[in-house]
Amino acid sequence: MYDSHIHLAQYRDVEMMDILSQVEGVIAVATDLASSQRLLDLKRRYDISITAGFHPEQTLLSDAQLNELVDWIRDNRSALSAIGEIGLPQYLRREGKVENEQVYIHLLETLIHLAGELELPVVLHAVYADAAIALQLLDQYNVHGHFHWFKATDDLINEVIKAGHFISVTPDILWNTKTRRVAELVPLEQLMIETDGPWPHTGFDKCDIHGQLSAIIDEVAVIKQMTRNKVMEQIRYNTRSFYQLEAHDENR
Ligand SMILES: [Zn+2]
Repeated sequence: MYDSHIHLAQYRDVEMMDILSQVEGVIAVATDLASSQRLLDLKRRYDISITAGFHPEQTLLSDAQLNELVDWIRDNRSALSAIGEIGLPQYLRREGKVENEQVYIHLLETLIHLAGELELPVVLHAVYADAAIALQLLDQYNVHGHFHWFKATDDLINEVIKAGHFISVTPDILWNTKTRRVAELVPLEQLMIETDGPWPHTGFDKCDIHGQLSAIIDEVAVIKQMTRNKVMEQIRYNTRSFYQLEAHDENR
């Protein structure tokens, strides 16, 4: 199994080694330039796939910082499996902390444009109505998107599916009706699984990645009325083809 979205740089070294022993592979996702650099260092030591980007739910980058990130991504293109995580500040906005939406959209557009130019997919934090803006930009720059921990209206979920993008679900599929709805609507061929670790999912240790992924697979199998093996194999295939991964030990 692959964890298609984990913030590996937020774990301690001993925890990382434990996590990497539990799975076939991970997409280790960055939240800013510092974590992108840290992931590149980790990639030199561990067999991991990494991304570089800027998480939207934090204080915005200045133009100079954005240019620095863009230059860094260009310089390290060959080490990257995607640009991300990028997106729009759904939760900051709800807290009334977004003063100028256009600045966030400009940042997102800059990085999706870059992804198109570098022929990389993007990891998106774009839930609910934000997905519509992301979809338009993906279409404009001809970029393939992974909508991570996705939630939206049925109409928007269906638009993401129709445009051929991928969607991942976390262990909150066990209790969250919105995530269960996503799993119902998304064809198995466009689904991935993730922990978003070290996010604290109720009932799981943040280092129990195998347990979390297994629980998601079990639940998807129930929702889709398919065998566990069929679900696991298809999701494995999806992750490997979306992120263009090399073969690893299949038994983990
Ligand atoms: Zn994340």
